Amino acid sequence: MTTENQTPELTDGFHLVIDALKANDINTIFGLVGIPITDLCRLAQAEGMRFIGFRHEQHAGNAAAIAGFMTQKPGICLTVSAPGFLNGLTALANATVNCFPMILISGSSEREIVDLAQGDYEEMDQLNAAKPYAKAAYRINKAEDIGIGIARAIRTAVSGRPGGVYLDLPAQLLSQSISAAEGKKSIVRVVDPVPRQIPANDAIERALNVLKNAKRPLILLGKGAAYAQADSEIRALVEKSGIPYLPMSMAKGLLPDNHPQSASAARSFVLAEADVVLLIGARLNWLLAHGKGKTWGKEPKKFIQIDISPTEVDSNVPIEAPVIGDIGSCVSALVSGIASVSKPSPEWLGAIADKKEKNMSKMAETLAKNPSPMNFHSALRTIRDVLKTRPDVNLVNEGANTLDFCRAIVDMYQPRKRFDSGTWGIMGIGMGYSIGAAVTSGLPVVAVEGDSAFGFSGMEIETICRYKLPVTVVVFNNNGVYRGTDVNPTGGSDVAPTVFVKNARYDKMMEAFGGVGYNVTTPQELEVALTEAIAAGKPALINAVIDETAGTESGRLTNLNPSTAAKK
Ligand code: ADP
Repeated sequence: MTTENQTPELTDGFHLVIDALKANDINTIFGLVGIPITDLCRLAQAEGMRFIGFRHEQHAGNAAAIAGFMTQKPGICLTVSAPGFLNGLTALANATVNCFPMILISGSSEREIVDLAQGDYEEMDQLNAAKPYAKAAYRINKAEDIGIGIARAIRTAVSGRPGGVYLDLPAQLLSQSISAAEGKKSIVRVVDPVPRQIPANDAIERALNVLKNAKRPLILLGKGAAYAQADSEIRALVEKSGIPYLPMSMAKGLLPDNHPQSASAARSFVLAEADVVLLIGARLNWLLAHGKGKTWGKEPKKFIQIDISPTEVDSNVPIEAPVIGDIGSCVSALVSGIASVSKPSPEWLGAIADKKEKNMSKMAETLAKNPSPMNFHSALRTIRDVLKTRPDVNLVNEGANTLDFCRAIVDMYQPRKRFDSGTWGIMGIGMGYSIGAAVTSGLPVVAVEGDSAFGFSGMEIETICRYKLPVTVVVFNNNGVYRGTDVNPTGGSDVAPTVFVKNARYDKMMEAFGGVGYNVTTPQELEVALTEAIAAGKPALINAVIDETAGTESGRLTNLNPSTAAKK
């Protein structure tokens, strides 16, 4: 495809952007067309890239972010200026917070007018708006800088601690032309974008010494460990050391959840009782109670922390043995010395095994019940059993209770297959992550969604249908946020703030766009629908009717909700 300013002798900004991305093996763009980027999107498709068009930029950005997490290559999100950019910025900020590499590329208005605040179409100083929420923000002003600008964005997104990069492309840049020969020379293929970072020998020695003196060691795997694609090194460390491990939610499946050393079923026990904790790609943030307090028991812990980012160390509590480097190199170095560390004591392993057994049989009892209507447990038992037969399926999960229970009940067997609310604990990632995961892997996706969570990105089921993606959405419909039974205390005609339309049929939304809809009220119906939908590999939505009284306020986050925390 040629653009107005492109001739055999000349090339232009449009072509140079596409050439620069393709030169770095970036073949997919997630975005939403509009001024000034519509032609860029057309050209991307004409030049053999895949362009996946969304209904809202936030979801395009989330798709790009999860593609980045899955592949270690930055996912690309392309948006229009001002509002489109701001919609994408939510996803860019989320990607940065989660350490996912992505690049948000937005068209922008004329610099001269924006800088003098003269009131341009969609006028906004996007570069400065992006800066606080991204790992870096750059603007390219000259066509001959497109090659180096895109190389810089790629390297920044993936090297060191990965994150989101904003790239500002003023409208006039895209139509600038330069000689084709000069243009060709300006394209940069990034050499070794994710260089290994080898840990220092003394740091490894210190870490091994702390492990040698441990009585009750524990390994904690975070989503950084999943991202690092060091699966065999991590497995070797866990199995050669014999140390029990806990996966954070997006590290589930890095080792299969039924691995004998998994301490997931004794999570509270091991966090409280361990004396040495080896963190691999997991931050001691709110998801780990900041490494202190009741969760972590009475005795102070000794932490060993493997991370690529040195400033993560001592962020919440002192770290006895920091190991700075890439996870693959750090874990390999530990494996080389692990024979000198004696295996954990039978007392420690026995205590964990006892606790696991007790908790698992209690959970099995709860899961075996078949209340009518279904509750979270009976529905998730069914999903667990179906997904056990399809370990290749990607699982997206968000909601409050739907997230908490699904994380605990549904096992994962392969790495980088579970994508959820992440570091912010947010809702709204559902359909974006589903589309990103389906496009990136070519494998089925099952999205287990609270009805409230689904609402944030529900319109993207049109996108799922348009691209005929193998996505099955399961909406846990209990008529409201948390549950559907709250009442308006004034007796007025407005429903309570947490309540939705009763008995809504989300399955009909999927049917509206040509997908398959199911309405299920029992575990048996859910099993049939889910099995059929995954096998068909076509867009489907299962409206799973759940008891509207089921569900607790704020799910597991009652301690963060000022009113419920006060009642505790
Ligand atoms: P979780 O939420 O699962 O606990 P976090 O997102 O808090 O995980 O932590 C991920 C950590 O992994 C971040 O501190 C990040 O710097 C680190 N990280 C990401 N990629 C790598 C890598 N390749 N090597 C080392 N550390 C990494």
